[in-house]
Amino acid sequence: MKLEKIAPHVYACLQKDTGFGWNNSGFVTTGGGLVIDTFWDLPHTQQMIDLYRQVGPQPPRYLVNTHHNGDHVWGNQLFAGADIIAHRLCREAMATGIRPADFQKIFADPVPPERQWVANDIAVYDFSGIDITLPNHLIEERLDLELDGIPCHIFYVGPAHTSSDLMVHLPEQGILFTGDIVFNQCTPLGWEGTNDKWIDAIDRLISLEPKTIVPGHGELCGVPEAKELRNYLESVYTQARHFFDRGLPPLEAARQIDIGPYFHWTEPERLIWNVSRAYREFRGDPWDAPFGDRIQLFHQAYELRQHWDRQ
Ligand SMILES: [Zn+2]
Repeated sequence: MKLEKIAPHVYACLQKDTGFGWNNSGFVTTGGGLVIDTFWDLPHTQQMIDLYRQVGPQPPRYLVNTHHNGDHVWGNQLFAGADIIAHRLCREAMATGIRPADFQKIFADPVPPERQWVANDIAVYDFSGIDITLPNHLIEERLDLELDGIPCHIFYVGPAHTSSDLMVHLPEQGILFTGDIVFNQCTPLGWEGTNDKWIDAIDRLISLEPKTIVPGHGELCGVPEAKELRNYLESVYTQARHFFDRGLPPLEAARQIDIGPYFHWTEPERLIWNVSRAYREFRGDPWDAPFGDRIQLFHQAYELRQHWDRQ
């Protein structure tokens, strides 16, 4: 984990992406302090807070949750007392979503070989003691803040990666915190939402012409990397359509899809989520319908990896 200064009063706390859950956070130190996203467990979030304490006020006045996935919100309780800003659907999903202890059980010993890879990914996290702490400042479309002279625009772009995607824009600094609308050099995967909405969200961020993007996962980047992600999403979606129309099941389609230059991104086998999510759309299912058995998707990702390794 490293703290990086992006502009006066603006920092990112970056984690090297090596698999599930290694996300990023941001910190604007003015206006009482505004943090963007927590990490997945309490020890990692505490480490981030300790870094932020070196450069700005702690506890901060605001915490923004860019969406409801655990890696971005399960540290919320360490910001008790803050104004926790999120989309209404973020709070809803957190209130009804999986509890940390139940999540951990899925990967507890004895782990079947098909999901050992995820167990390895998450072995470093400690999900004990997490008390899901819900956002208390809900927004629908937009919230504009003024952080002692730094305008800060928070706006909704979902349902794209999930139902509740927010981005945080500092227009005067040209800095955009995208949450998981942007994965940089690591394979994206989405849950609720549609391909079109995700593409729209990327187009919207491109139109803001940010100089620096703090992605949800991966190193700091800019518009070119966001365009790469857009290409990936479009390519997978188009190829998935081709195989859907020929009646292939998602795993078989994933085996046949060519992801070309994106194969070197972290965990390319997450392709199975993207194909399964596309199939949900092709079937005409609602954007928030489950697109497969979540545990089975982990197993299929393993099978896909085995398939590639045999080639
Ligand atoms: Zn994430």
